[in-house]
Amino acid sequence: MRVYNFSAGPSMLPESVLKKAQAEFLNYENSGMSVVEMSHRGKVFDGIAKRCEALFREIMGISDDYHVLFLQGGASQQFDAVPLNLMKTGKADYVVTGNFSGKAAKEGARYGDAKIIASSKDANFTYIPELKYEDFRPDADYVHITSNNTIFGTRYLEFPKTPTPLVCDMSSEILSREVDVNKFGLIYAGAQKNIAPAGLTIVIVRKDLAETSTPNCPTMLKYSTQANNESMYNTPPCFPIYMAMLVLEWIKDLGGVKEIQKINEYKAGLLYDFIDNSSYFTNSVRAKDRSIMNVPFVTPTEESDALFIKEATQNGLVSLKGHRLVGGMRASIYNAMPVEGVKKLIEFMKDFELKNK
Ligand SMILES: *Cc1c(COP(=O)(O)O)cnc(C)c1O
Repeated sequence: MRVYNFSAGPSMLPESVLKKAQAEFLNYENSGMSVVEMSHRGKVFDGIAKRCEALFREIMGISDDYHVLFLQGGASQQFDAVPLNLMKTGKADYVVTGNFSGKAAKEGARYGDAKIIASSKDANFTYIPELKYEDFRPDADYVHITSNNTIFGTRYLEFPKTPTPLVCDMSSEILSREVDVNKFGLIYAGAQKNIAPAGLTIVIVRKDLAETSTPNCPTMLKYSTQANNESMYNTPPCFPIYMAMLVLEWIKDLGGVKEIQKINEYKAGLLYDFIDNSSYFTNSVRAKDRSIMNVPFVTPTEESDALFIKEATQNGLVSLKGHRLVGGMRASIYNAMPVEGVKKLIEFMKDFELKNK
């Protein structure tokens, strides 16, 4: 039996995508071999990589002013790659809204003056700081933000206007809502939340920003290296790229990000409405900053949290344990989580509340 898996990442993928991958796993399009066995330089895989990029560009509305790179190393490697490529004058602004943005700022500080210009640490990251254009340094190389904070369940409803290129870690919400890519200098995302299995990191970078890098940037981390070699300077993560292509086809068939966003807002709305009307469960994120991907919540005591997680698991609702930094529960409801999964969770929460209140 398949369960409803609320894992923050790696996370659920659409069942139809898994079935398609299974059906063509042994013999991909009459090539006589599996996608995981073929040369990344062969014609068949080249077709997959090209289709994946074309679909991604179409679905996200990415213009020719940007490179799309399919890399390895995870979002975490971009915490270094970003400053190594972009911190040309040695100054960058960071907004710290959680664990991952804190790590990004810490890596940035290895390479220069990485200034934390705002943080929501004062309230355990339960809100997104309000930022004005004047808050940023006009002579910095970029501003780094994390658009959706996976652990704390916050997200930027709107993105700040900045005097320098906006760099965004979009790992846990990419393709979940419509985004105007032209507002960004660079977007990066680990694939394992909303796109594909772990192993693929996608970077969208404005071409002019990728032309040069800082002198110490390793060859493998230079955006120009990968851009000049169509992300095949070395072996790319072939299987996740293929899976990403299938997920992108699935999104396109559903009507694109616009339609996915409606479903995501509906799912998140159901869950937040239930929590807000409950006198047993709480979510402490400022309402306007609530993520529609990651929903942390607690019961009145740690003991009942533990019981909740145990009984939920027995009912086929798994990976609901919150991150150790927050405790309690967290429901990650990415694109692939069906509406029925969220409804089943809410039904379970209702019953649990009645029994344990
Ligand atoms: C999961 C996550 C990361 C870490 O991604 P890796 O691919 O494991 O390095 C970074 N940032 C955000 C926002 C995430 O959700």
